[in-house]
Amino acid sequence: MAGRSLETHDVFNQSPPFENVDLFADDRALQEAVRANGAAGESGRLAEFGRQWGAADMIAQARLANENAPRLKAFDPRGFRQDIVEFHPAYHDFMAASIDAGLHAMTWNADASQAAPPAEVARAARYYMVAQIENGHMCPITMTRASVGALALEPGLVKRLMPKISSRRYDPSFRPWWEKTGITLGMGMTEKQGGTDVRANTTRAEPAGEGYRINGHKWFLSAPMSDLFLVLAQAPGGLTCFALPRFSPDGQVNGMRLQRLKDKLGNRSNASSEVEFVDAFAWRVGPEGRGVRTIIEMVQLTRLDCAIASAGLMRMALAQAIHHTRHRTVFQKRLSDQPLMRAVTADMALDTEGTVALVMRLCRSFDQAARDPQEAARARLLTPAVKYWICKRAPAFVYEAMECLGGNGYVEEGMLARLYREAPVNAIWEGSGNVMCLDVLRALGRESEAARGVLLSLAQSCAGIAGTREAAGVIAATLTAPDSEVRARAAVEQLALLAAVAALAEQGSAVTEPFAATRLVGRPAATYGTAELDNAATVQLLARALPE
Ligand SMILES: Cc1cc2nc3c(=O)[nH]c(=O)nc-3n(C[C@H](O)[C@H](O)[C@H](O)COP(=O)(O)OP(=O)(O)OC[C@H]3O[C@@H](n4cnc5c(N)ncnc54)[C@H](O)[C@@H]3O)c2cc1C
Repeated sequence: MAGRSLETHDVFNQSPPFENVDLFADDRALQEAVRANGAAGESGRLAEFGRQWGAADMIAQARLANENAPRLKAFDPRGFRQDIVEFHPAYHDFMAASIDAGLHAMTWNADASQAAPPAEVARAARYYMVAQIENGHMCPITMTRASVGALALEPGLVKRLMPKISSRRYDPSFRPWWEKTGITLGMGMTEKQGGTDVRANTTRAEPAGEGYRINGHKWFLSAPMSDLFLVLAQAPGGLTCFALPRFSPDGQVNGMRLQRLKDKLGNRSNASSEVEFVDAFAWRVGPEGRGVRTIIEMVQLTRLDCAIASAGLMRMALAQAIHHTRHRTVFQKRLSDQPLMRAVTADMALDTEGTVALVMRLCRSFDQAARDPQEAARARLLTPAVKYWICKRAPAFVYEAMECLGGNGYVEEGMLARLYREAPVNAIWEGSGNVMCLDVLRALGRESEAARGVLLSLAQSCAGIAGTREAAGVIAATLTAPDSEVRARAAVEQLALLAAVAALAEQGSAVTEPFAATRLVGRPAATYGTAELDNAATVQLLARALPE
């Protein structure tokens, strides 16, 4: 960038802002993964979407939405309960843009059945790009789309709600759902005494009229301005899922009291609340006593989104790092020409190649699951493994990207600080790391034949690639060993890496061999820049990562 003068000095050697970029056209790994997983026909629309979301204005709005966190208005000026949350207009703009693009519902038909392929891949490509710009608003977008997976059990409710859910017109007004042009959905599972262990829920549900009366609390309930919440509560027949609207059928505000908003590390544009339910009206979703079973499909979908979002965070962090190092000169040489910096960024680029291939391949399994039991088994086994590995990888990755920008990476005016604060949440919510590993073990235990079939098909996709046969053997042996729980993390990480190699191999990626050689063979390194990549692989990775 040309130098400019201030009174005391010239300003030069600062990288230009990374904005007005094309999040699709500049991302070769994404394009290849989209094509390989059946969504080539979407390319034109994705390019338009990539330009829209990479615009300078979007980036500025994302900063505003996060700097101006939502505020709880529990009471009105006269002391009456109000229970509303006010958001910055930028948050509403993001909600409107994501809903306009259909990210909240495009994978469902009007009857809540699954939309035809490649709906999952097409949505995921967009979701991945949105995650690079603004994450907080994606929480209600994810919850809305995933909730349909549980609501589908109640055709009567689906018939009434689906036209509002699938609407592409965002309506933030605080009114009964039937008066609105479009609605969003939230979830309330976690209570003070237990989040993972939802069976410990103490919130009670008693049959009353056409529904149930809910009394109790939720310790975390995000996006409390949603129009309807799926909540778990103890009914006479045991833990049950319910749909609790903000307004009860008589048009009155339902008995849902917002107690506080959480003061969070990141995810600031999104409101996460503590709530109490006082005789709140709700419809039952699924049979009494089958609450956990009812939300299982929904939870798979939220976990998938966590992985896609973390992959998106990593992509933006990488793009920012490479952009900066190409414009910053240190010791008379561009940072991007310094061998050690190249080793760091190429190693990081390899991870983003693996993560995007992995999530898009997983989305293809979701696309095919209804018609192909093998793909359904793949989605079942790999979703927790992929969430585990990508969400765990993201914080360290974003931190390394931050360091590539030096001091500029650490200050709030840039984007890296926000991405860094954002990164850990995807590993915590929707099932934390250990819980994901236990879920992989559960899949192997309960559906062992199907899971073995998945391992076999991964091994076949990787045939002849160094390290993959050994990895498949280690995974199978470890995850079925008597002490599998103790060793689960190492094996689940290997499973995700094997699946990444398989995804890269299936799409004929040029970086399959270096990925396998540096991730599966030998001891994994603790930091980026330690993978032994030869010069040709480094040149190729950096050229693929971002056009100069
Ligand atoms: C920003 C934010 C927003 C959220 N929004 C919502 C929301 O909208 N709705 C909602 O319902 N929840 C929400 N949550 C809650 C979130 O889903 C839970 O925090 C999460 O599921 C973990 O539950 P917990 O906090 O009770 O931790 P715990 O269940 O106590 O778990 C603590 C740790 O123990 C580990 N662990 C659990 N069981 C085992 C085991 N058997 N063996 C080994 N380790 C184990 C877990 O992996 C975790 O690391 C939100 C959380 C955050 C941070």
